[in-house]
Amino acid sequence: MRLALGQARLAAAAGEVPVGAVITAPSGEVLSQAHNRCEAEKLPTAHAEMLAIAAACRSIGDWRLTGCTLYVTLEPCPMCMGAILHARVGRVVFGAPDARAGACGSLLRLQDYPLESQPQITRDVLREDCLRLLRDFFAARRGTPARKRARADGMPTDRRSAAAVSGQTDPTETD
Ligand SMILES: [Zn+2]
Repeated sequence: MRLALGQARLAAAAGEVPVGAVITAPSGEVLSQAHNRCEAEKLPTAHAEMLAIAAACRSIGDWRLTGCTLYVTLEPCPMCMGAILHARVGRVVFGAPDARAGACGSLLRLQDYPLESQPQITRDVLREDCLRLLRDFFAARRGTPARKRARADGMPTDRRSAAAVSGQTDPTETD
């Protein structure tokens, strides 16, 4: 998770919502590291988990990540959990819960459905560090005159994650 936090910091430095992801093989070897690149790629699918899954699959030459662990600083959204299930990732470890869009128990519990796989979920790992990065990022964005630009090109994610880290909704209420 420390590596994933490092990736999240890279995202923040690049003006991206600070989310980082790392995938390890069953042996513990790091297969991939990635951070959110939605702004750079102009793609809503360029979440850290999606990029980490693609890189890990390229690394091992297989679309199946059976037995692998995905570490991510923010609870995966439904899109990323869909990819995680398709890739048959064995375990998901995340830091900050996302009350608005989290698909590992906060909003939805996609791991419980009888889909391609049912990964084990570990939550709240380095939670405060992961939350602080998000809070600092959105506080800085709100405090800059670039608000108009931020609203124009980052509003959905901004609103979602800002709400998730603002404490408006108890992230544990759906546990
Ligand atoms: Zn996602």
